[in-house]
Amino acid sequence: MPYDIAIIGAGPAGATLARLLDKQYKVLLLDKRDLMEPEEEERSKCCGGLLAPDAQEVLGKMGLAVPTDVLVDPQLFLVRTIDFDNNLERFYQRFYFNMNRKRFDEWLVSLIPPHVDMGMKCRFTTLSERSEGYEIAFIHGNRIYTEKVRVLVAANGAWSNARRQIFPESEKNRRYISIQEWYETSDSIPYYGAIFDSVVTDFYSWIIAKDGRMIIGSALEPSKEAGIKFERLKNELRDFGYFFGNRIKREGSYLLRPKSGSEIFTGNEHMALIGEAAGFISPSSAEGISYAIRSAIALADSLNKGIEGFQYRYNKNLKALKRNIMLKQLKSMAMYNKTLRALIMKSGILSTEIMTETI
Ligand SMILES: Cc1cc2nc3c(=O)[nH]c(=O)nc-3n(C[C@H](O)[C@H](O)[C@H](O)COP(=O)(O)OP(=O)(O)OC[C@H]3O[C@@H](n4cnc5c(N)ncnc54)[C@H](O)[C@@H]3O)c2cc1C
Repeated sequence: MPYDIAIIGAGPAGATLARLLDKQYKVLLLDKRDLMEPEEEERSKCCGGLLAPDAQEVLGKMGLAVPTDVLVDPQLFLVRTIDFDNNLERFYQRFYFNMNRKRFDEWLVSLIPPHVDMGMKCRFTTLSERSEGYEIAFIHGNRIYTEKVRVLVAANGAWSNARRQIFPESEKNRRYISIQEWYETSDSIPYYGAIFDSVVTDFYSWIIAKDGRMIIGSALEPSKEAGIKFERLKNELRDFGYFFGNRIKREGSYLLRPKSGSEIFTGNEHMALIGEAAGFISPSSAEGISYAIRSAIALADSLNKGIEGFQYRYNKNLKALKRNIMLKQLKSMAMYNKTLRALIMKSGILSTEIMTETI
């Protein structure tokens, strides 16, 4: 018997959808990672692991509270903005939960009810169209398996192979390559560092402390120069006074940055895309967790009313989220314009005075 719904990817988008789908459906959830067995941190999604206020709000609305073992040290209430283009620096108050991203994903998966069939360590590879949906193929161990599905949901992140097979034009979407390096540090870093340097990137770079480690990350144009630009960033940070000791690991991942509504793909009558696979992520801050969860809620609501006509209802439910992305796009035009940013930072508007010399 075919599955009613198969979800590829058990990140925040896929895990939320699987949790919210009605029991009437036969549901399959696949992920290439194993998010049911605690294992090596290496399998963590490359992410800053900051839960922004929008994501906190949507979790609260779903009646969920983040368990403390998902959190790491320190909790952050401050953003230090370092603008190398204009030689300016400011602090702004923001409230983040600082998390271990893998434990966050595992926690969301642990909430999925038992009627959902879970296939961990299953890598989706290809799909073929059938009259009533798709046949999907995935690899587990050394074997290839196939399943027939009425609705396929691509929730497998920025570089979704399911999206690229159905919507090859999405390859042209604006994307960045993010590099993150983790360092040992004894420094106290009681803030989230946001760094602007237009020679390194037209997006931004960041510093985040996590359990005695320091992450240096950047979203870079995907080119041969990316590595060189990342080295430039590190040299600038050293000159600025940061000390980083032994490197623990280096990781990388694609990151989408939608320029317009045409870079958002919601699917067709037998397929839906949610989360970053669909293009839902903030083009101003790269915050993606709240968008992943909100798009999953929008799809669950539409599918729970029946498969017939779900795509139309899903798009209706997405109106506010799409509008939000366009507003973030406008915000990013101001944030990433050197002159405007200098004016805003110099004015001190919304910034915070810090009452200590320790930073
Ligand atoms: C460097 C970096 C830092 C970031 N920092 C933050 C941050 O601090 N806060 C924030 O809110 N957002 C951040 N983001 C964005 C955020 O990580 C994503 O937008 C968010 O994780 C998207 O959730 P998702 O469920 O759509 O996809 P993902 O979290 O990417 O989940 C996709 C899932 O699909 C699985 N998968 C992929 N391919 C296959 C396949 N072929 N077969 C089976 N399974 C597959 C993966 O294993 C994964 O579990 C960051 C992104 C990057 C790259």
